[in-house]
Amino acid sequence: MELIIGAVILLVGILIGRYLPGPGRPRRHALEEAKPLCGCGHSPSFHEEKGRCHGLNEVARWEGGRWAGIESVSCSCQKYTGPEPLPAFYAPEITG
Ligand SMILES: [Zn+2]
Ligand SMILES: [Zn+2]
Repeated sequence: MELIIGAVILLVGILIGRYLPGPGRPRRHALEEAKPLCGCGHSPSFHEEKGRCHGLNEVARWEGGRWAGIESVSCSCQKYTGPEPLPAFYAPEITG
């Protein structure tokens, strides 16, 4: 009998885990995952109209073979090379 109760508790746990959004699996918006990124890793909003990037890159600093921390340097990207951000990304709700 104890075995059956244990199995039922286990089954209920599996069902609850399946139907409730668990904290380990955050639901991300599909559009966020399809966000266009430049080759430098920054989104188009970091780039000037002419193309220069204002983003920061974190680079590892080494001094004499020893780890000296992380340094933020401005991105050297001169032109946005990623996919063009589609208008649909900003107006996802299409009616009619
Ligand atoms: Zn950049
Ligand atoms: Zn860039």
